[in-house]
Amino acid sequence: MNLAKFRHRSLSEGPWRNTTVWTAGCSIRCRGCFNVNLWDPRAGHKVGLVDFLHTVLDGRNKGDKGLAVVGGEPFDQPLALGIYLMAVKLLVPQLTITVYTGFTLEALLKRPKARLALRVIDFLVDGPFVRKLANGNLGYRGSSNQRVIDLVKTRSNRWVIQIADWDNLVVIGEDYIAGPEQLLGTLVNSQPSECGRMVKEAFHEEPVHLNPA
Ligand code: SF4
Repeated sequence: MNLAKFRHRSLSEGPWRNTTVWTAGCSIRCRGCFNVNLWDPRAGHKVGLVDFLHTVLDGRNKGDKGLAVVGGEPFDQPLALGIYLMAVKLLVPQLTITVYTGFTLEALLKRPKARLALRVIDFLVDGPFVRKLANGNLGYRGSSNQRVIDLVKTRSNRWVIQIADWDNLVVIGEDYIAGPEQLLGTLVNSQPSECGRMVKEAFHEEPVHLNPA
C-alpha cells in the first residue's frame, strides 16, 4: 500500500488512542484541505503487508486501542486497503478500525472494489471536507457534513447508524474516555433508507423493500 507516514498514540482521530496511518494520493481534492501535500501519490512509498502489521502490533503494544486510516484518500487504493484491514482484523480483532474518506458511504457501496474494506471497518467518517461547514467544535471531524457511521451496526441493520457523541468525547491524560461499545449511536433514518438497502445488498443479505404495501 502507498503510505506517507504513521503515528502511534495519536489523539486526533477519535476518542481513544490510535495508530494512525496516512495514505498518499487523493483524487477528491477538496478546497481548503489540510493535507494538500498528500494529494500526490509520490508523497508516499510502498509499505508491504508484513511491515504494516508490525507497525500496527507495535502500536497495540504501546496501548493503542485503534487503527485509524486517513488521507490522502484511503479508498483511492480500495483493494490494498481491504486486504490490509482484513489482515489487521484477523490478527488483532479487538483493535477498532476507523477510516476517514472523502467519498460518501453511498458512493463507496457502488464500487465493488471497496466492499472488502467496508466489511471490516468499524467506524467510517465519510464525505468531503467542505470549508464553509468547518467548525472548531467538531472534535474529530473537519466539517459538519461528514458523518461518523457505525459500520458494524449499519451492516446488520437497514438504517445508517451514526455516532451521536463522537465530537464531544475527549481523551484525558493516558486514558481514553470511551470505548467503541460506549459510544451512543443514532438511527438516522426512521424509515428503511435507500442507503440501508444498498448496505443490505452489498453484503449479500436479503434486500430490504422500501415502502412495503
Ligand atoms: S478527501 Fe481528505 S485528503 Fe482528499 S482533499 Fe478532501 S480532505 Fe483532503
